[in-house]
Amino acid sequence: MTTTAAIIVAAGRGLRAGGEIPKQFQPLNGLSVLERTVAAFATHPEIDQLVLVVNPADDDLLAKLDLKDAVLVHGGETRDASVLAGINTATTDNVLIHDGARPLVSARIISNVIKALENHAGAAPALTVTDALWRGEDGHVTAPHPRENLFRAQTPQGFRRSEILDAHAAHSGGATDDVEVALAHGLDVAIITGDEANMKITEPRDFARAEKLLEQDMDIRLGNGYDVHRFCEGDHVVLCGVSVPHSHGLDGHSDADVGMHAVTDAIYGALAMGDIGQHFPPSDPQWKGAASHIFLEHAVKLATDNGFSISNADCTLVCEMPKIGPHSADMRREMARIMGMDMDRVSVKATTSERLGFTGRGEGIASIATVTLVKL
Ligand code: MG
Repeated sequence: MTTTAAIIVAAGRGLRAGGEIPKQFQPLNGLSVLERTVAAFATHPEIDQLVLVVNPADDDLLAKLDLKDAVLVHGGETRDASVLAGINTATTDNVLIHDGARPLVSARIISNVIKALENHAGAAPALTVTDALWRGEDGHVTAPHPRENLFRAQTPQGFRRSEILDAHAAHSGGATDDVEVALAHGLDVAIITGDEANMKITEPRDFARAEKLLEQDMDIRLGNGYDVHRFCEGDHVVLCGVSVPHSHGLDGHSDADVGMHAVTDAIYGALAMGDIGQHFPPSDPQWKGAASHIFLEHAVKLATDNGFSISNADCTLVCEMPKIGPHSADMRREMARIMGMDMDRVSVKATTSERLGFTGRGEGIASIATVTLVKL
């Protein structure tokens, strides 16, 4: 297996962006620029190591940030020296060298750079130039400039580690980026399609543009949940928080609220954070007979803690009996109350299975649920 490190270069002073602190520490919709950049790589499935090249003067600022599992290394006097410190720290086959001030890099670009390294010594994203180009002097156009074969370079710039290490060792310094260093060493660098959103934050107005892009990039998650409980001796069942008289009860380690369990699992699912069984193991006696709202409240808090709000929840109960219709308004009200939502965003409905299968034979109740989570 080829391994890949992301080397995020964030040792610069970023003076053009204005502000009291370097641009990579300034906030962008609630998180610092650098935290967003780090998170983009930390959550990518093909990144095995995170190396963050920083300025020793920023150690206090860095201590306050959530930098995942990044290995911090101090940069040098120049950009080349900083990158080299990062390459020397990485222990992987490939390295992706990325500008800390490009927080909106997409998973697609990271994947495509890694993929291109299967066949090329280097690969980097770039955009074609669509505007006409001029040369100018003293406020006057002096000549048109052909835009054919011109590209706007972005990062991450990916290389086989040993080759870019040799290239840096052989370079005299002062390169604008690592592709320049690679070319000087004769390495083949493939161009992959970049993204306008993968902008480099350079000037104060760039923050406003990046914030707009983030707002357009609303994080919408769907989750599904499914649960079954069998009937047992009893005189009522608890469904979506409402006690319904019935000829049987439902068997389960908690109150066996099959509807609430499905909705809870749908929330965990949307977050990609496991399921009820993982958070509340049935083997743990403290959850025996526990009211299911404890589970649902936990899932809702997890969603909220991760910046999501629940946009809607839809739960379907599958059984022949008891009749759900007379209780569905109470169920919606109770579910909405527990989740802190408006009732018109919570649906509880029911269907029979035409007397087919275990629900049709009246052996138990099944439930499926879908929820939508939204992060603005
Ligand atoms: Mg259950």
